[in-house]
Amino acid sequence: MTQDARLPLAAMLIDGRLEQAQSGETFVSTNPANGEPIARIPFGDDRDARLAVDAAAAAFPAWSKLSAAARAKHLHRLADALERRRNEIALVVTSEEGKPLHEAQGELQLSIDSLRWYAEEARRAYGAWIPDPVPGRRLLTQRQPVGVCGAIIPWNVPCAMIFRKAAPALAAGCTMVLKPAEATSYVALKVAEVFAEAEIPAGVINVVTGKASAIGNVFLTDHRVRKISFTGSTDVGRLLLRGAADQIKRTSMELGGNAPVILFEDCDLDASIRAVASLKFLNAGQACIGANRIYVQSSIYEEVSRRLADHARQMKVGDGSQAGVVMGPLVDMKAVEKVEELVADAVGKGAVLRAGGSRMQGEAYERGCFYAPTVMTGVPRTARLHDEEIFGPVAALYTFETEDEVVDLANNVDYGLSAYIFTENMDRAIRVGEQLESGMVGINETRLGAAEAPFGGVKMSGIGREGGREGLDEYLETKLLAIRVKD
Ligand code: ADP
Repeated sequence: MTQDARLPLAAMLIDGRLEQAQSGETFVSTNPANGEPIARIPFGDDRDARLAVDAAAAAFPAWSKLSAAARAKHLHRLADALERRRNEIALVVTSEEGKPLHEAQGELQLSIDSLRWYAEEARRAYGAWIPDPVPGRRLLTQRQPVGVCGAIIPWNVPCAMIFRKAAPALAAGCTMVLKPAEATSYVALKVAEVFAEAEIPAGVINVVTGKASAIGNVFLTDHRVRKISFTGSTDVGRLLLRGAADQIKRTSMELGGNAPVILFEDCDLDASIRAVASLKFLNAGQACIGANRIYVQSSIYEEVSRRLADHARQMKVGDGSQAGVVMGPLVDMKAVEKVEELVADAVGKGAVLRAGGSRMQGEAYERGCFYAPTVMTGVPRTARLHDEEIFGPVAALYTFETEDEVVDLANNVDYGLSAYIFTENMDRAIRVGEQLESGMVGINETRLGAAEAPFGGVKMSGIGREGGREGLDEYLETKLLAIRVKD
C-alpha cells in the first residue's frame, strides 16, 4: 500500500468516536479525473466491524425505545448539519467519484430530503386493531424496529446511498453499521464527521471502511445483526443472500439493472432525445437505472441515431469540478477497460460506431479515467452489452417494428430495475408500462428518484424497495398482540 503522510487522515466512526483501524493500516483514495491522491483511509477488518456491531447492539435498546417524534428531532438535526456542509461534501463526491458538481449537489439534496422525509414518516408507522372473529380476545399489531442492521453501499452514489439506508433505519428505531465502497470511502468518512457533529447518540450509526469481505462476513455471522441492506452487483448480492440464509437474516438487495429505453415513432422527438442523452450519460453511464438497451422504432431510427451521436460529440467531458463539464471520468481504469472490452465485442460482431468508441484523447485526459461519450448503431443482440450492464457512457441502439415485439425484447433479460417509454400515445404508454417486467417505469420521464417514491427492482435486480413508505417497511417487523379480554 502506498502512503503519503501529508494527505488528510480520515477516521471511521465507531461508538460515537472517530477511530483508526485496529490494524493501524490505511489505504489511499484517489481522484479518477487526474489520479491525484485525496486522503488516507483506515483499512478496517473484522475486528473493527465487531466493535461497531458491539456499539450498535448496545445502542439499540435506548434508541428503539425513544418515541418516533424524539428520533425525528435527531434526524432533523442531522439534516441541518448536512446542509451546513453540503457544498464541501459535494466537492468530495466529485473529486472521489468523478461526477460533475451539479450531479453531486443533487445527491446531497436527496440525502437531506431522505432524512427529513423519514423523520416524519416514521411517526406514521401505525399498527392496527384487527376485527377479531373470536369473542373475548382482541388482536392488535404493532410495528417494531428490526434491530441492528448492516449496510453495504457502492461507489456510484456514495453520499445519497448512505441516507437512503440510514434515514429509514434510524427513523424506524434500528441502529446501523455502514460499510462504504473502497473507491469512495472518503465521502462516507466525511459524512461520518457529520453524524458526530450532529451528536447522534453513540453507536446508533457506525461507519467502518476497509476489507469488504471481512466486514461483510461479520454482518453475515454475528447473530446480533438482524438485517443486511445491500446495493451493488448481482454477484455480490447473491453471495450475501447465500450467507444470510444460515441465520435467516432479513435482506434488502438493490442489484444490477439492464434498462430498456423504448422510443416509439409517435414520441416527441426533441424532448425524447434530450431525455435519453441525459439518462445515458448521467454519471458517465455508471447508474443502475441508466439506459442499457435503446430500442428505436425503425421509422425514426436513423434520425435518432444521428441526433444522439451529434449530442455525444458536443458534450463537454472533463474534471467534474470545472464549470460547464457535463460528464466526468469513470471511477477507475478497470471500469474503462471493461467498457473497451464491451465496445470491441459489439464492433467485432458488426455494430457501427457513430460517436466516440475510444478513450478521450488529449493532455487534459491523460492522467484520468476518461472514456468518450459513445453511440453505436446496428448493434446485434448477440453483443455482450445487450445482456450485461454496460456501466459506461455507451449508447447501444437497436431497432424494432411493433409494440408486441419490443415488449418481448425488453422483457427478455434476467434484470428488471427500470424501464423507459417515449410516446405521445397515453393508451400505449399505459399498456406497455403495465407489461414491462421492471420495478420502475419512466413514461416520457427519466428521473425516478425521490425520497417519497419506492425505488427497487424485480427479477435479478433485487428484493425490496428504498424510498417511500415501502422503504420504511424494510426496517420494521409487524408484531401481533393477541389479548384476552373479559367481555
Ligand atoms: P461494483 O462492481 O459496482 O463495485 P460490488 O458489488 O463489487 O459492485 O460492490 C458493492 C459493495 O459491495 C462495495 O461496498 C464493496 O466493497 C462490497 N463488497 C464487495 N465484495 C464483498 C463481499 N464479499 N462481502 C461484502 N461486501 C462486499
